[in-house]
Amino acid sequence: MGPQGAGKGTQAAKLASRLGMSTVATGDILRKVGESDTPLSRQIRETQAAGRLVSDDVMAGIIQERLAREDCKSGCILDGFPRTLPQAALLDQFAEQHGFKVSAVIIVVQRDMLEKRLTGRRTCSVCGHIYNIYFKPSKDEGVCDLDGGALLMREDDNPAAIKKRLDLFDQMTLPLLDYYRKSGRLGEVDGEGDICAISDRISSAVAALTAGASGV
Ligand code: AMP
Repeated sequence: MGPQGAGKGTQAAKLASRLGMSTVATGDILRKVGESDTPLSRQIRETQAAGRLVSDDVMAGIIQERLAREDCKSGCILDGFPRTLPQAALLDQFAEQHGFKVSAVIIVVQRDMLEKRLTGRRTCSVCGHIYNIYFKPSKDEGVCDLDGGALLMREDDNPAAIKKRLDLFDQMTLPLLDYYRKSGRLGEVDGEGDICAISDRISSAVAALTAGASGV
């Protein structure tokens, strides 16, 4: 877990490759659904672009379908889920039914740094590689170093949506920290500094939380 710009996507991918597990990134799943042309897709697209949260009901259907797939049978790394208390309760219910253990790691980053990371973020339209115009620019502006694809800004990385998303995180997702802390399932990791050092910190936190367990 972490506010937008905390590095969840980058760190989830690193952790998944270390642990040999799949990553389930709800933001990515929703963006994919949003590419279709159905009333639900349009609603999801608008919700994401405005920086609001997709409803818990819609999320419940999406996450249950995704976690039931074969590649999640022996655990997975969740990126961006849960984001609300009802989502956390739903995940615990699912975990109980399927014999998983849920552990949470929060990536902590100061707000001014988050804003810079989000406004500077650019994603390759071909391979999805992520750059940042302030911290990790491509060699040629607007072009991916790896495959020459155009680098695009996410629609929700505009200043109004960023403010909305960070405010919503404080309001809706911060209460989750207590939820997991009270049950001894929370690891807190400093998300600033070298990407590999952060990844090491997250791995240690996950190892401490999941010692002797198999699960999400
Ligand atoms: P992310 O890629 O994790 O930054 O998510 C991008 C956007 O997708 C969010 O701002 C929300 O609009 C939506 N989203 C992703 N995960 C969730 C979730 N668990 N609950 C509700 N909305 C979500």
